[in-house]
Amino acid sequence: MKTVTLVAPCYDEVEVLPEFYARVRQLANQLPQYKLEILFVNDGSRDGTDGLLDSLAAQDPYVKVLHFARNRGHQVALTAGLDFAEGDVIVTMDADLQDPPEVIPELLTKIEEGFDIVHAQRSVREGETRFKLATAHAFYRLLNAIAHEPLIEDYGDFRAFTRPVLMAVRGFREQHRFLRGTFVLLGFRQAVLPYHRAARSAGRTKFPLRKMLSFAVDGIVSFSSAPLRSLLWFAFILWGVSLAFTARALIGHFIFRWTVPGWTSLVVLLTFFTGLNLFSLSVVGLYVGRTFEQGQHRPLYWCRATRNIDLRALPYSPEIELSRRILGLNESPSSPTDNDHPE
Ligand code: UDP
Ligand code: MG
Repeated sequence: MKTVTLVAPCYDEVEVLPEFYARVRQLANQLPQYKLEILFVNDGSRDGTDGLLDSLAAQDPYVKVLHFARNRGHQVALTAGLDFAEGDVIVTMDADLQDPPEVIPELLTKIEEGFDIVHAQRSVREGETRFKLATAHAFYRLLNAIAHEPLIEDYGDFRAFTRPVLMAVRGFREQHRFLRGTFVLLGFRQAVLPYHRAARSAGRTKFPLRKMLSFAVDGIVSFSSAPLRSLLWFAFILWGVSLAFTARALIGHFIFRWTVPGWTSLVVLLTFFTGLNLFSLSVVGLYVGRTFEQGQHRPLYWCRATRNIDLRALPYSPEIELSRRILGLNESPSSPTDNDHPE
């Protein structure tokens, strides 16, 4: 029997988790041919999500929980889920029921048909503001236009994939993560399944404009060097403009004997070039900053506790090793699978 691991990052989701769990459990009854387990990654919630997940894990051995020591963001929580997932098929999804669990059987059917990655594509999006829909659409068009590799349009992190894909994606350890792009560039046999994205069932979005913007910058800077290259074209154009200005000034001075002080053009040029300098510097800074952060070799995440997970059985990754050390699992081989940071 194949095991399916659902990976769901949660950050302050105490209002939706009971319904999420109920709907997934219901689904498990409809899919008797699979062993369905849920891996919750608690991304440093502060609202009682911890306690709720612990009690779910205590009654249901198919509920696994990973408690981060602090909030590390949705993409890192998802990454941790991929490190800890052990199923034959993995499904990543949001915990707020915007990715309806009822779509999962269709994703699994596509996997059975022989695809390795099935992206669920949002054909309809309920309960989102016009602003979010318009900016998301514009963002994916821009990204597709400038990315090194074509990425499919407007998809989130709701997808199913097989174990070989899981192994491949674990090899990508960049600090700034944009997993929906990474999955596309992995290759394998990919399929797209349109679905109807529901509104959030309770609670508020955890993606304010600030986080959305920084996620968009991560997507562009990780998958395209167009911003860097565009600077070169800017420089060429401006060089042309400044040559024309120089010619005009010289001709004016020697032939027509103009005595206009030229203060306006000076100021215009000065501000324009200063602005451009700053812009160029900041684009370069984006890429240099990333090199710096990658060079620090910081762990992406670290765990405070786990439930129903045998950390010692997991393969090596720097983060898993660090979590083992935090939980004191290197010395005492006797502890059960519920692990808490020893006080
Ligand atoms: N999430 C997370 N860490 C964060 C922000 C969000 O694990 O720092 C989770 C959140 O609990 C949810 C999923 O990521 O399960 C998607 O977040 P949300 O629904 O707030 O984003 P939106 O759907 O509004 O883009
Ligand atoms: Mg949501």
